[in-house]
Amino acid sequence: MNLRDSPDEEAFRARVRAWLAENLPAEGGREWSRKLFDAGYAGLTWPVDYGGLGAPYSHQAIALEEFARAEAPNHMNVIALGMAGPTIMAHGTEEQKRRYLPKMLSAEEIWCQGFSEPDAGSDLSAVRTRIEPTDGGFLVNGQKVWSSLAHDADEIFFTDVEVPGENLLGEIGGGWQVAMTTLLHERGTLGFALTGTLDALVNKLITLTKERAADDPIIRDRVAQEWIELQALKLTNYRSLTTLMQTGIPGPEGSGSKLHWSEQNQRLTKLAMEILGGEDDGYWRYQQLRSRGNTIEAGTSEILRNIIAERVLGLPRSR
Ligand SMILES: Cc1cc2nc3c(=O)[nH]c(=O)nc-3n(C[C@H](O)[C@H](O)[C@H](O)COP(=O)(O)OP(=O)(O)OC[C@H]3O[C@@H](n4cnc5c(N)ncnc54)[C@H](O)[C@@H]3O)c2cc1C
Repeated sequence: MNLRDSPDEEAFRARVRAWLAENLPAEGGREWSRKLFDAGYAGLTWPVDYGGLGAPYSHQAIALEEFARAEAPNHMNVIALGMAGPTIMAHGTEEQKRRYLPKMLSAEEIWCQGFSEPDAGSDLSAVRTRIEPTDGGFLVNGQKVWSSLAHDADEIFFTDVEVPGENLLGEIGGGWQVAMTTLLHERGTLGFALTGTLDALVNKLITLTKERAADDPIIRDRVAQEWIELQALKLTNYRSLTTLMQTGIPGPEGSGSKLHWSEQNQRLTKLAMEILGGEDDGYWRYQQLRSRGNTIEAGTSEILRNIIAERVLGLPRSR
C-alpha cells in the first residue's frame, strides 16, 4: 500500500478536517451520531443502498485518523458499525440489510453485543443460551453479561423471548461462522480505529513529559520507546488495511493489532501516572483504569496470543 495520501485522499482529509473544525461538539450522543450520518461520515464504506457512501477503505482510515486527532466523540453505535453491521452485510438477506443497516448508521437503533455469559467468556463455545424453533419463529432462553452499551441493565436475562423467524441470520446451525465474522471485525477494525486514539495519547504523554519530567533520562527513554511502538503499530495496521481492501474481510492478524494496542495503552497510561507521581489527575486516572478493560474485552491478551500462535504462525493447537 502507498503510505502517502493520493490527491483524492488528500482532498478528502482536508474536507474531514474542515468539517470537524466547524462541527466538533462538546460531547457525543445520539444527536452527534445523527449529524455524522447526515454529513456522510457514518458507514463511509457501506453500500449506498444501505445508507453508506460506498467510499474506499482508505477514506475510512483517514476519517478515523482525523476524528481521533480532533478527539471527536465516537458515533454512539460503535458495536453496530464495527461488528453487527458487517456481520449482517456478510450473512443477512437483502430484506434484513435494508431493514437494519440504515437505522444503525443514523443511530435510530442502538446495538449491543450479547456473547458473554456467566460461564462463557474466553471460551465462547461454552455459551448456554438456547434457541428452540416455534411456529414461525424461535424461543430464546439464557443469560448474558458484560454487554457494553446496555446501560439500563447489569445483566440481561432472556426468558421465553419470542423472536420472529425472519430475524434468523444465515442458516440454522451456522451460528458459529456468523459469530466468527463478528469477532474478526471486532478485532480487525476496532484495533485500527483505536490506534488514532493512542496517537493522541502518545502526544499528550510527550507534553506531560516536557512539563514534568523533561530531564529524567529513564522517563525520556520510556516515552521514546512508546512513540516507536506506536509507529510499528501504525505500519502493522496499514498491512491489515491492505488485506481488508483486497478481501473485504479483516484477517486474524487483527488480533496482533488489538493485543499490541491494548497492552501499549495500559503501559503508556501507567507511565503517565508515574510521571504525575501520585497527583490525582482525573484524565490519566480514567485512561489508566479503562485500559485495564481493554486487555479483557474483545478477547483477553492470553487468548489473542493463542490465536496469533495458532492461526497466524501455524503452531500446533494448545488444547
Ligand atoms: C470493558 C469490557 C467490555 C465488554 N463488553 C462486552 C460486550 O459488549 N459483549 C460481550 O458479549 N462481552 C463483553 N465483554 C466480556 C469479555 O468479552 C469477556 O470478559 C472476555 O472474553 C473474558 O471472559 P471472562 O471475563 O469470562 O474471563 P475468563 O474467560 O474466565 O478468563 C479468565 C482468565 O483466564 C484466562 N484464560 C481463559 N482461557 C484461557 C486459555 N485457553 N489460555 C490462556 N488463558 C486463558 C483469560 O485470559 C483471563 O485472564 C466485555 C468485557 C469488558 C472488560
